[in-house]
Amino acid sequence: MGNQFNIDENLYTAMHKCTRCGQCSYGGEEAEFVSLCPMYLKGKFFTYSAGGVMQMARALYEGKIGFSESVRDLLYLCTTCGACEVNCGVIESQIDLFTLLKKELLQNGIPLQEPHQMVVENILSKKTPYAGRLPARDEWLAKEKRGKIASQAEIFYFVGCVSSYRETEIAGAFVSILDKLGIPFSASGEEWCCGAPLYFCGHEDKVHDLVTHNVELIEKSGASTVVFTCPTCSMIFKKYYPQWMKRELPFEVLHATEFMEKLQQKGTLKLDTMHVEKTVTYHDPCHLGRGQDIYEAPREILNRIKGIEFKDLTRSRENSFCCGGGGLVPIGFPDFSLDLARERASEMKSIGAELLLSACPACKENLKIAAQKLKLRTKVLDIAELVDNALK
Ligand code: SF4
Ligand code: SF4
Repeated sequence: MGNQFNIDENLYTAMHKCTRCGQCSYGGEEAEFVSLCPMYLKGKFFTYSAGGVMQMARALYEGKIGFSESVRDLLYLCTTCGACEVNCGVIESQIDLFTLLKKELLQNGIPLQEPHQMVVENILSKKTPYAGRLPARDEWLAKEKRGKIASQAEIFYFVGCVSSYRETEIAGAFVSILDKLGIPFSASGEEWCCGAPLYFCGHEDKVHDLVTHNVELIEKSGASTVVFTCPTCSMIFKKYYPQWMKRELPFEVLHATEFMEKLQQKGTLKLDTMHVEKTVTYHDPCHLGRGQDIYEAPREILNRIKGIEFKDLTRSRENSFCCGGGGLVPIGFPDFSLDLARERASEMKSIGAELLLSACPACKENLKIAAQKLKLRTKVLDIAELVDNALK
């Protein structure tokens, strides 16, 4: 048997090039080959690794095994952290292959787990993954401050679902920075989910309306640059929107750390006049670091602020360890997600940091919950919040 589903040449080649070496579960030499794959840490044998999924994909493709709920449950343990793509010396399209398998699961009649199905239904009906009665999307910003938002501006701030409804302090901090620096910007309560959860649930077929709506909304604002505090949103815009729209985006896409670093270079944001007397460490969000290759901008920002003693983690940069917040894992496997966050928060605390920083609302949310559970007195903040607090 063969050809149980359609696969493009690149993924077909990738699937057949996997040598079962197992390196995808570990970091590189500079990180002393530490364990990095969350799925492997959970399952503790090869099947629970990118290489294992590669072999499973081959067996599915060749019809040696069928699509099933067990295959689904294994695939959804993957946090889409991308450590395998960086550390495999042979191929680098593991996550694309996993997403294809998720699509095939649906086409073969295997339903999503119930919590994931709820997310899909919420996005389709409410344009956000969150359930229940929600406030208006722009309530993250106090009414009296909404006048700061221009309808037309060079800069558009795309807030994202997590900062709109859960980690609203991050959105508040970012617009406060813009306000203090006198930078006009637009944003909109009409923004919709970027589509990432649909894509990572195998429902790429349902992203079209979201993508078109968001791009048209931004185009109407006349913005030439769109800034994101959520790295998953910015990764999805950069990597997938042009494919889904079948055209290049008519604006530049920047994560807030890249944007702040550019302001620093132009002299608009004077980081070296700020003072924070703290020992800090930084968690590289998977979708910012491995997803967009942004490692330097956050460190540049931290290293320029006076008084900061910056300590990097062993599992950092390309070898960062996922906080457990990605790939819809917190929704499907909340205990597992929290175990990962606890491991990461303990690691950050163990190097003596007084502040645990990240640059992603989902990372902040997960690390904050873990720090509370571990009764750590250490504060978890987004870099935008640190900069806003230090900016007079
Ligand atoms: S995916 Fe890459 S690193 Fe993992 S087992 Fe296969 S070849 Fe080795
Ligand atoms: S993306 Fe992360 S969790 Fe998924 S297989 Fe690769 S290393 Fe493991």
